[in-house]
Amino acid sequence: MISMNTQKDALQLLKERLATISDIDAAMAVLTWDQQTYMPAGGIAGRSEQLATLSQISHEMLVSDETGKLLESAGEPASGSEDAAIIRLARRDYERATRLPARLVSEISRTRSVAQGAWEKARADSDWGSFASHLEKMVSLQREAAEHLGYEDHPYDALLDAYEPGEKKAHLDHMFAGLKETLVPMIKSLPTDEDREAPLHGNFGERKQEEFSTAVISAFGYDWERGRQDRVAHPFCISFGSPGDVRITTRFDPEWFSYHFFATLHEAGHALYEQGVNPAYSRTPLSGGVSMGVHESQSRLWENLVGRSRPFWTFYYPKLQATFPEAFGEVDFESFYRATNAAYPSEIRTEADELTYNMHILLRYELETSLLEEKLSVAELPEVWNAKMQQYLSITPKNEARGVLQDVHWAAGLFGYFPTYTLGNVLSAQVFDAAVGAHPEIPEDIERGKFDTLRGWLQENLYRHGSLYEPQDLIERTTGKPLDTAPYLNYLKAKFGELYDLA
Ligand code: ZN
Repeated sequence: MISMNTQKDALQLLKERLATISDIDAAMAVLTWDQQTYMPAGGIAGRSEQLATLSQISHEMLVSDETGKLLESAGEPASGSEDAAIIRLARRDYERATRLPARLVSEISRTRSVAQGAWEKARADSDWGSFASHLEKMVSLQREAAEHLGYEDHPYDALLDAYEPGEKKAHLDHMFAGLKETLVPMIKSLPTDEDREAPLHGNFGERKQEEFSTAVISAFGYDWERGRQDRVAHPFCISFGSPGDVRITTRFDPEWFSYHFFATLHEAGHALYEQGVNPAYSRTPLSGGVSMGVHESQSRLWENLVGRSRPFWTFYYPKLQATFPEAFGEVDFESFYRATNAAYPSEIRTEADELTYNMHILLRYELETSLLEEKLSVAELPEVWNAKMQQYLSITPKNEARGVLQDVHWAAGLFGYFPTYTLGNVLSAQVFDAAVGAHPEIPEDIERGKFDTLRGWLQENLYRHGSLYEPQDLIERTTGKPLDTAPYLNYLKAKFGELYDLA
């Protein structure tokens, strides 16, 4: 029998080890941030080596016998306690990492870098044929990884678990079926002959765009003492093991208002979550958001439920008109509001609106699960892709670059990642509803440019918990029920029903 003292010592040593791993991972994140923002092109070779070295040290510390022994001797602290959660998360990481043979890990990583290079070229040439064999290899490696990781019902569950712990394919099938049933008929009845987005195109100086969006995200509560914003090609939010330094990145288009503005709100939403985590969780597995889906719910909540709402623009549109009098001086509120919520079927996922976005995800979800089940071959993908685009969105992509080749995820081996976008969308409305249920004055506050009640509620009920609870438990604690598509579908029906006179 292991004595209480030995357990306490083991837990202490385990925490110290996890803190060291967290420091190494945070240092890697700083190097990655620098690579994406300021590093000159010549730095790439050296930076790749630095990241590979740190990644190896972090991995070796995690999978070492020493970590295994400490996990065994650390005992079972009272369930629900922070220590119990730390051990649960450390065990999960340890088991996922030790179940994959080193040979498979390095083969996946090698295949990823080759496949990403091949994908970039294939997309530039719109040439599926030159990418197919790389994807075949990646799919078979993913299948192998799922077998090593283990699962109860479906190999997809093993991969999904990396992004959305505890989530299952059977549950996602159910969620997507509900969305499809309501959304496909709505999408099919959208008018196709209008250019509602026209008001958002004009001349927008970068400095003024930045001033305007900075004022908005500062009002949301983004803390510049614990963050900063820089520019990149593909915006992201990144933190370094604590809520003390949570950075966002953005992009600009001098002729398109939405390009910078909504991307900035999106990343600020991710950042509010990270900045809100209990600082006591720093350097532990509890720091940071709990899952990709819950994280995305917060970027979408601030971007869409707040940033594309009538109350929000009731307050901000006069300010926007004053900032860009040439572009918006003559555009009435209603036309502007309709432009920011323009909905129509389109080829590209990342440019899709709220109403059509999830059909892009459903399509990818169905294809990647079929690939994994070997019900679909890589050779058949372009054809099935186009058939499903017709079925859900009534369009056929112009070419493969704007169709099956548009996303990097499969080349990168990110199987199981796509559904977290839709989980985030669904959850954004459920969380917002719960906040308004607790504080019915929130929409009026937003109309006065006040966000403290909303952010305060999110902080108290969601953000501060970090990764303390399993995602499904956190959703129930925060909203009072398990994941539910009803608030999201009601939101879409109300908003787009009104905008487009949909039945
Ligand atoms: Zn996001």
